[in-house]
Amino acid sequence: MKPLVVANWKMNPTSLRAAEALARRIAVGLGNVSGVEVAIAPPFPYLAVVGRVTRQRTVLAAQDAWAGASGAYTGAVSPLMLRDLGVRYVILGHSERRRFFGEDDGLINRKVKAALVARLIPIIAIGEEHRESQAVTPPLLAQQLARALDGIPRRRLRAIVIAYEPVWAISTTPGARPDSPDNATRRALYIRKLLVKLLGPSVADTIRVIYGGSATAQNASSFLATDIRGMEGLLIGGASLNAEECITIVQSIRKKVRGDKS
Ligand code: PEP
Repeated sequence: MKPLVVANWKMNPTSLRAAEALARRIAVGLGNVSGVEVAIAPPFPYLAVVGRVTRQRTVLAAQDAWAGASGAYTGAVSPLMLRDLGVRYVILGHSERRRFFGEDDGLINRKVKAALVARLIPIIAIGEEHRESQAVTPPLLAQQLARALDGIPRRRLRAIVIAYEPVWAISTTPGARPDSPDNATRRALYIRKLLVKLLGPSVADTIRVIYGGSATAQNASSFLATDIRGMEGLLIGGASLNAEECITIVQSIRKKVRGDKS
């Protein structure tokens, strides 16, 4: 499957001008990207301008969306509004949403449902808080995944994305370090097994599992396994705020995918 790279800018940069400049640098640097799908997830106020300057080269992702279509929800952003702006993906369940905004699995499940109704593709983030020994599979992964997908008809979940983002590996976590490529692959295979169990093989086959956590230009391509269906993309935070690094990450993945095929 075509790898997916999602640039999660989080709450950065702090001016429209800087956001436009960053998006433009990334789009120009990428040129006509082929072989890798690149999504940029800027803060809400910049979605329109990022969409305008990057059109055709990258797609838009939102960092969150509310669990309903419209109504009295001060401060919330409807998935329908995002869809109308041309947004394709929406990140849901990010550990920062869980931690700083108190989001639980129930709310994330409702958000997934609302996103699907609006025809956005959810990128559902799951991941354990603390580093476990590699032999142990954190039970939280199965729980977060099952709860996020609970009650949703299988056919609606075709082509969603699951992001494995161990909290201990996210660059802003004190003492963070990236997962090892081997362990990331093991986790991808485990998540894939869970997906088969929950959704059946034909729907599971359409779903990409991607990795997030301190990915950089140096290590990005090592997380992708192209001979088996391991990680099929990356969610990048800090490194995506540097246009050159972001471009290098995408190029290294493109090269790996091409190289491994030939
Ligand atoms: C993230 O929080 O989505 C993330 C992957 O961050 P970073 O790449 O900075 O670790």
